[in-house]
Amino acid sequence: KKADLTLGRDAASVHVLKGIDLQIAAGQSVGIVGPSGSGKSTLLMVLAGLERLDRGEIHIGGAALHTMSEDQVADFRGRNIGIVFQSFHLIPNMTALENVAVPLELANVKDSFAIARRELEAVGLGERLSHYPGQLSGGEQQRVAIARALAPQPRLLIADEPTGNLDGDTGRQISDLLFAEQARRGMTLVLVTHDPALAARCQHQVRMRSGEVVGAEATPVTSGRKVSA
Ligand code: ATP
Ligand code: MG
Repeated sequence: KKADLTLGRDAASVHVLKGIDLQIAAGQSVGIVGPSGSGKSTLLMVLAGLERLDRGEIHIGGAALHTMSEDQVADFRGRNIGIVFQSFHLIPNMTALENVAVPLELANVKDSFAIARRELEAVGLGERLSHYPGQLSGGEQQRVAIARALAPQPRLLIADEPTGNLDGDTGRQISDLLFAEQARRGMTLVLVTHDPALAARCQHQVRMRSGEVVGAEATPVTSGRKVSA
């Protein structure tokens, strides 16, 4: 609600988010689009609790993130939010299995390796458990990253240009996977993309420009009628 954020200091400071007022219904998919530098990634970082607002409120489910301490936000994120990046962000000297299991271990989750194996099988990588990221294709690396993000069973999955480093066909496969998992788990999916086709597959589209939301609309469910977001 009325979210404002300035990043950087002095001459390098930028008023990145300006009075953003956005509601996302649980279990829905939202595609955020807009020109480079319009604040899309920053908005995702705020949603993930990785950037704090200067002014305004952020509620996720019943939780008011803007009132929490850093530790509380980190704990909330660990339990409820998965994040996927354009450049995968896997740990290069860990196998696919370890990339998914180790964060679970660190969070004291029981049977972390069994869960990691199951999540990798779910994204189609059951035959690649012992591969290192450097031995995997881009699409496979993104599948590992998605398995890692989904392993804690988040209620909200955030993806910043998840297909941005992939060719068209691979990107579509990754999009298919994201929407299939969203439906299967009933989670909320908020993604940023420069690909209009991917944005159009989301149930809602949000357009940003210069730190502001300049449009929000829903994909028509049946032909003809548009439902406003
Ligand atoms: P792209 O499509 O290129 O990824 P974006 O919409 O994701 O762009 P952001 O990364 O959110 O854009 O950045 C929005 C603005 O905030 C940019 O003008 C950028 O220069 C500025 N910005 C981001 N991080 C910082 C920072 N740490 N310090 C100062 N300014 C920053
Ligand atoms: Mg960005």
